[in-house]
Order: sequence, then structure tokens, then C-alpha cells
Amino acid sequence: MKAAVAHEFQTPLRIEQLAQPDVKPGTVLVKIAACGVCHTDLHACHGDWPVKPKLPLIPGHEGVGTVVAVADDVDHLFIGDEVGIPWLHSACGHCEHCLQGNENLCPSQQNSGYSVDGGYAEYCLANADYVVKIPKSLSFVEAAPLFCAGVTTYKALKVSDAKPGQWVAIVGVGGLGHLAIQYAKAMGLNVVAVDSTEQKMSLAKALGADHCIDYQLHNPAEQIQEKLGGVQAVICTAASKAAFSGAYHSVKRGGKCVLVGLPNDDLPIPIFDTVLKGISVIGSIVGTRQDLIECLDFAAAGKVKAIVQTESLDNINHVFEQMQNNEIQGRIVLTMT
Ligand code: NAD
Ligand code: ZN
Ligand code: ZN
Repeated sequence: MKAAVAHEFQTPLRIEQLAQPDVKPGTVLVKIAACGVCHTDLHACHGDWPVKPKLPLIPGHEGVGTVVAVADDVDHLFIGDEVGIPWLHSACGHCEHCLQGNENLCPSQQNSGYSVDGGYAEYCLANADYVVKIPKSLSFVEAAPLFCAGVTTYKALKVSDAKPGQWVAIVGVGGLGHLAIQYAKAMGLNVVAVDSTEQKMSLAKALGADHCIDYQLHNPAEQIQEKLGGVQAVICTAASKAAFSGAYHSVKRGGKCVLVGLPNDDLPIPIFDTVLKGISVIGSIVGTRQDLIECLDFAAAGKVKAIVQTESLDNINHVFEQMQNNEIQGRIVLTMT
């Protein structure tokens, strides 16, 4: 099978022919039709984070396709099922977090396209218990980004506790942010979107943002405090430390700053303001299978639609360059045919 493989950090991926994986107990083999390119894949290939991925690595955790082989011990999936393979490749199922329905916090989890091979390939082996079926009304290409960008922002909005009618700021209108705007609107929230360039401002507006702020032209925190009196919650999806300090200063008293983007930096948080204003700073990591099912339902009902450009798997290094330069509108989805 054809696959894009990272052999060393900070070097281009290589397009290679590899042996197709065999099903093992508890797994299904998925013929990948499409796989979204998440900024996490770029962090993985750069070795940005304290916990490093395996090498060599086939990245990708927004892979979607058709089940073509099923292990003998799997009885709930069948050849021909259309599924997606999310970041959460597997969790232990018996730790306190798994038992409490927070499998995304399981310390023994494996991650697709990070600790195990992912979806930048024609075939991908997946844990049968952790793939999620794609609603019939969604195409592979439009479903792919929901398996990380969609579920992550849907979950972050839940974590924010923002209620209909309240204001949230979405900082970063990229793969994650452009879906965050749509989930927030579908939840009845008012949205202020922060990113830069005219194209991203018009994309945010078209997706329903009530206000847009170009951070290269204006100070988002000042504008948000001045015009809106602060937001109830901010979802920070930018992979930038500068974005986080702006995000922090955008929330109102009692508000929540939800950290989603993952620059490899420390975040200086002012203790005085945090205490006196009762501000919460919370991390939010992808979502559970149940979150994923709910997030897919929004799309199946036509309330959320990923803005997608397709590219061939062969062009992955060019896509990474575009991502590094913040040039992508919505999500790029690699197609395997
Ligand atoms: P992306 O490259 O598609 O989008 C990032 C966006 O941030 C771009 O539009 C860029 O212009 C914008 N940006 C950069 N600096 C900014 C600033 N100072 N202020 C406002 N906007 C700014 O990336 P993505 O795929 O959406 O991922 C974003 C981040 O989220 C990455 O760090 C990724 O690893 C992380 N992530 C986290 C989770 C999680 O579960 N917490 C899940 C997926 C991705
Ligand atoms: Zn991702
Ligand atoms: Zn567990």
C-alpha cells in the first residue's frame, strides 16, 4: 500500500510502498478514502511536544474509509461499514477516567498517527471498539475533519459551559476554529472570531461569526473588553503562545479560557486577576466516542459543514508548508485515489 511516512523529525515525509497490515484480534482493516490534515500531524512530524511519537510514523487521525477486513473476535462491525479512525486509537476501559466516561483522559491510551500508525495511507489498522460509523448523509471528504477538528471543538464548547445567548471568542480560524464557529452558532452562542487576513475574516463571517477581529491589525483582548465587556468563554485553537495571552485577557469575570491549541510553551497566567476575577483556565483534549457521535449528528443534520480542499497524498509536504504559513482556509483533506 502507498503511505506517507515520517522517518525523522523536521524532515519531509516520504511516499512509500509498504505491506498492507494484517488484522489482529480486536481490530478492523480500513481502506482509507480520505484523511484530514490536522496541525497536530505537523507537531508530530516536527517532534514538537514533550511526549514524542513513534518513528517511523504514518501520521493522520482523521482517516475515514470502508472496513475491508474484520478480526474473528469482532462482531459489531462488518465488511463494507463506513467508519472514521479518530485520535483516540484505544483506551484501557478500566481506569477511573474510562469508568467515569472520560476515556479521552485515559493514561494508557494509544493515539492514531502518533503512538500507532494513522490514516496517511491506503489502508489503516484500527481498534474495532474505537472507530465510529459515519452517518449515511456525509461524504468521506466532509466527514474526515469531524473526526478530530469537529469533535475537539464541539467538546471544548461543552467544557466551556457557555450558555445560549452568551458570547464566546474563537481564537484561530483554522481547521479547528472554522468548525468551532459553526458548533458555537448551532448551540445558540454569540461568536467573536479572531485570526488574521481578509480571507479568514470573510470565512469566519460566512460561517456565522457575529464579530471578527484581525489580530494583526487590532488588539483582540482590548476590542473584546471594550465592545462586549469580555466574553463568557474563549476557545483558543491557535498554535501560538501570543494567542493565549490575548485569549486570557478576553474573558469576563467568572469566564473560562479553554486551551485547545498546543504550542510547546509555558503559559504565564496572572494569579491576581485569575483569583479576583474568578477566571478558569481549562485544557480540553479531543472528545470521547459519544462526543464524536454527537458532533457527527450536527453535521448529518446540516448544522455544521467542514470547508474542505482536497489534495493528493503525494502532496503532503506542500500541505504542511501551507499549514506552517497559516495559508489554509478550513481543512485540507488528503484523498487516496
Ligand atoms: P490550523 O493550522 O488549521 O489553524 C490554526 C489557526 O490559528 C490558523 O488559521 C492561524 O492563522 C491561526 N493563528 C495563528 N496565530 C494566531 C494568533 N496569534 N491569534 C489568532 N489566530 C492565530 O491548525 P488546527 O488543525 O486547527 O490545530 C490548531 C492547534 O490545535 C494545533 O496546535 C493542534 O495541535 C491543536 N489541536 C488540539 C487538539 C486538542 O484535542 N486539544 C485537537 C486537535 C488539534
Ligand atoms: Zn487533530
Ligand atoms: Zn483508561
